Amino acid sequence: MRNVFLPRDPEELWAILQKEPDAAIYAGGTDVLVMMRSRRLNPPCLICLERLEALKGIREHGEEVFIGAATTHSRVAAHQLIRQHFPVLAKGASVLGSAPIRHMGTIGGNIVTASPAGDTLPALYVLEAEVEIGSANQTRRVPLNEFITGPGTVGLAQGEALTGVWLKKTSGWSVSHYEKVGRRKAQACAVASMAALLNVSEAGMVEDARLAWGSVGPTVVTSRAVETALIGEQLTSATLKSAARLVEEAVSPIDDVRASAEYRRVVAGALLSRLSLEGKSRL
Ligand SMILES: Cc1cc2nc3c(=O)[nH]c(=O)nc-3n(C[C@H](O)[C@H](O)[C@H](O)COP(=O)(O)OP(=O)(O)OC[C@H]3O[C@@H](n4cnc5c(N)ncnc54)[C@H](O)[C@@H]3O)c2cc1C
Repeated sequence: MRNVFLPRDPEELWAILQKEPDAAIYAGGTDVLVMMRSRRLNPPCLICLERLEALKGIREHGEEVFIGAATTHSRVAAHQLIRQHFPVLAKGASVLGSAPIRHMGTIGGNIVTASPAGDTLPALYVLEAEVEIGSANQTRRVPLNEFITGPGTVGLAQGEALTGVWLKKTSGWSVSHYEKVGRRKAQACAVASMAALLNVSEAGMVEDARLAWGSVGPTVVTSRAVETALIGEQLTSATLKSAARLVEEAVSPIDDVRASAEYRRVVAGALLSRLSLEGKSRL
């Protein structure tokens, strides 16, 4: 038997974190419970975020949108602000796991787990998200790509918790796309995934591009070389195919039980080359 703390406001959370520095935070529990069951994690006590309303929900603040760390994936996927301004994130959240996992799992849990296969992460990278970190002493904001330092590792100090994610509203990308390839069509962790934001002119020329791949490196992979190869070019199959070769060079996948490194490399390129076929986000 271990104690479970249920703070009701952030002050209570910071006080418990100071008193119980080895406690594990439990948001949806979909990763924490799996780790405890397999004995990879054996914390003295748990801090459950269930009653912390301040860490839940999605709020507009001028030109920015705040997503509370304990907001579930189903809420992110369905929320009007997210669907309107960040459809690439709505898509990532809507294909994560199964419906029960999306009802329990949270965006904060997906970020702190920092799996290269995390389905919200490529979208958050192309959206240039910042995470908000709180503690008894301060609140700070850090770009997500600096917060995640490796597979399963993030820049959280003792006494700190993730309180939310900040996104800047963008003025409408013409292509907003997320796709993952898994071993099954649904409910599978990604073998490779890609988030893409493109601005394409009326004449079909790529004016701006932001791309990020999941499951093909220790953390989400971005490549300025691939983006530069697209910018200024017509969005044709030939352009995408030649950029796809650069993707294969940029990624650094590993072999594991789900797929070989070579297969992941090819899939990462193929996700880009079929972008024109997939077309615009159909959310
Ligand atoms: C059957 C199954 C299928 C899955 N499929 C997918 C999938 O397709 N794609 C995918 O990306 N993931 C998948 N997952 C993994 C998991 O569901 C997600 O990573 C989910 O977002 C985790 O969120 P959670 O709220 O359940 O996190 P928890 O399990 O509660 O926590 C995860 C980690 O984050 C820490 N943490 C949580 N919230 C905070 C916070 N606010 N501050 C500081 N630390 C915090 C916890 O201490 C823990 O280390 C799957 C899991 C299962 C069991």
